[in-house]
Amino acid sequence: MIDRYGREFTYLRLSVTDRCNLYCLYCKVPELPRPERLQTSEILRIVRVAASLGVRKLRLTGGEPTLRSDIVEITHAVATVPGIREVVMTSNGLTLDRLAAPLRDAGLGRVNISCDSLDEETFRKVTKGGQLRRVLDGMEASRRAGIQVKINCVILGGCNDHEVVPMVRFAVERGFEIRFIEYMPMHSGEGEGMFGSPQTVPSAVLREALSAHFELERLPADTTDGPAETFRIAGTQVKVGFISAMSSPFCESCNRLRITPEGKIRSCLLTGGEVDLVASIRRGASDAELADLFRQANDTKPPVYQLHQLGAVDMRAIGG
Ligand code: SAM
Repeated sequence: MIDRYGREFTYLRLSVTDRCNLYCLYCKVPELPRPERLQTSEILRIVRVAASLGVRKLRLTGGEPTLRSDIVEITHAVATVPGIREVVMTSNGLTLDRLAAPLRDAGLGRVNISCDSLDEETFRKVTKGGQLRRVLDGMEASRRAGIQVKINCVILGGCNDHEVVPMVRFAVERGFEIRFIEYMPMHSGEGEGMFGSPQTVPSAVLREALSAHFELERLPADTTDGPAETFRIAGTQVKVGFISAMSSPFCESCNRLRITPEGKIRSCLLTGGEVDLVASIRRGASDAELADLFRQANDTKPPVYQLHQLGAVDMRAIGG
């Protein structure tokens, strides 16, 4: 499915819940916890229709996707949909010591685990109470289970920007890929004052800091791997990626749509309108009608997202 600007839709990010067990200061503070809106059968139907339109890669995200008691069943169901080649997940890792093996058996091949600091105290402050040890255990459990681990690290100027080199060393020692994500100020985290006013640190600055310690070999762009600019640390197999959502938006290569936990298709993280898919499913719509809703949403994808809309974004409800 190609949109008005020639971009092909092959990647679906499905936010299975807006509940989370961490309260990261840059993520929107949740309203009252909401019950799960999408049933497993509805998720399966959505993924089947998306696959029939050319989606090959599926990311389960949230909120914290592993908080759904049926996350293993969901993973298994979507991994067996014809056409889906890869099921991946974004998680904070807290429950993965218990869930990594069942998720691997269900068909999970890769997991992005968010970890913004290797210092217990900083981690606790950024996540408002999170225990770093459990995240590290989740990474190890995933590795043991044979799931490929990628670390997602949001760098906040004045908070953890001095940890860029230790983070990469940590990744190299364990053979994990790592990606640095530019902080997108949402004006929403109640704890932002804790570190003054955190600043976005452009990827170029991080790259320069790393270059003093590592030789970075640029890798060709991999269209299946999203918007990261990726480098290999010379002499290792470890990749370092940079997602420059603020300093260099990558909309021209956007290949994704999102499903919100309420069952709406969202065409763009920041700007896209939403099309209510689950309401149509519950009204008894056919697969062809659902496919039309995907087309409709795809046609509302803007050529480039509008950063002034940052304040209106709720990452938990969209899936980051
Ligand atoms: N609970 C899971 C986790 O912790 O990874 C998945 C959901 S979380 C919203 C997905 C990703 O979005 C995380 O890597 C998180 O760091 C990133 N994220 C959330 N808010 C962000 C912001 N304001 N700027 C940049 N990245 C953000």
